[in-house]
Amino acid sequence: MNVTIIDPGATLGVLGGGQLGAMFATAARRMGYGVAVWDPHAEAPAHRLADYSLTQPFSDVAARKDFARHVHAVTYEWENVPGELCEQLELEVPVRPSSRVLRVIQDRIEQKTFLQTHGLNVPAFYGISLPEELDRQAVLGYPLICKTATAGYDGKGQWKISRVEDCAVVQEDLIRTMRPGSRWILEEFLLFEREVSILVVRSIDGTMRTYPLVENIHEDGMLRQTTVPADVPAAVTQQAVMMARSAVQALDGVGVFCVELFLMGDGRLLVNEVAPRPHNSGHYSLDACTVSQFEQQVRALCGQPLGEVRLLSPAVMLNLIGDEVLFATVSPANQELLCEPGAVVHLYGKRAIRPKRKMGHITFLASTCAEALAKAAAFRSRHPQPPQ
Ligand code: AMP
Repeated sequence: MNVTIIDPGATLGVLGGGQLGAMFATAARRMGYGVAVWDPHAEAPAHRLADYSLTQPFSDVAARKDFARHVHAVTYEWENVPGELCEQLELEVPVRPSSRVLRVIQDRIEQKTFLQTHGLNVPAFYGISLPEELDRQAVLGYPLICKTATAGYDGKGQWKISRVEDCAVVQEDLIRTMRPGSRWILEEFLLFEREVSILVVRSIDGTMRTYPLVENIHEDGMLRQTTVPADVPAAVTQQAVMMARSAVQALDGVGVFCVELFLMGDGRLLVNEVAPRPHNSGHYSLDACTVSQFEQQVRALCGQPLGEVRLLSPAVMLNLIGDEVLFATVSPANQELLCEPGAVVHLYGKRAIRPKRKMGHITFLASTCAEALAKAAAFRSRHPQPPQ
């Protein structure tokens, strides 16, 4: 296959300038690429790492043309960037993953339908386009989870419906928050045993690399902690790897993908969702692997050979959410943390601290998972309250 390789010296564009965009920019710069960041928020952390920054709205046509002139290829840091923008940019430069892949993924109904059509198990679901249709849940039974079909993240735009009496309240919420064209997905609420996820990287020639399976703990719909490798039977890991690879293959995706799965008590795995980008549950790869998920994003975008996915050490990644970031920035908690053997602190440089905002993370490296888990648990128990 004749593949155009984008060599160091070129400028790579990223849509979205949050921490994922910033970590992409850091990897790209280390590898000798220039970086152009487009994020309408002037305060977005990745702007500080950019050779070229745009802060116009994503709908600005002149800005789009300007961006396209400055870059040799484009990626995005999350799936909620406008699909039309990627389609337009694609007419001028490579966009990876493609706008076609983005379109399938950014709508939860489309995505689950796609995965199901390609033989992957997903939770039973229903798409609705009117809040009044909530009563269709009768087909699925209770409990249920209702999610906005597009634009939800970190548990935002999600409602648990435990019983029929909850419907009226949720319906009011849907009416209050709906926008033109809003749709929602209703899913059976699964009493899973564990949540696991796996990174798959796929290059332009179809080569795939798979990182180890990890176990995730969520609180309030937000990722709290990731342990790598996941402590599950080898057969479960094999099945997860197979499912994740076939999802990315079916999408014909080029780039980094994170496939999130639910592991049921009887050993069944169901795909929760696929992210077309590096993922919070893959941050361990920055410190615990030879090549991180962000370097792979650069390599895949540029048509370069993919890197090794070797895990060098068991690890636990703990998110610093809201004012927990003060553990890493205010004395004496930050000094204690900096003295902790095996602890690697990452701060995202967000100026405003807000509840439920991801402000940084810590990776605890140790010779066993049990040891890394104990370090993370000890850190949390020493600091039940953020320092004032
Ligand atoms: P999502 O944004 O779809 O990844 O959902 C965020 C979190 O909500 C997941 O990581 C789960 O902890 C929980 N969740 C999502 N969908 C379901 C489901 N169908 N059943 C049970 N829990 C779910």
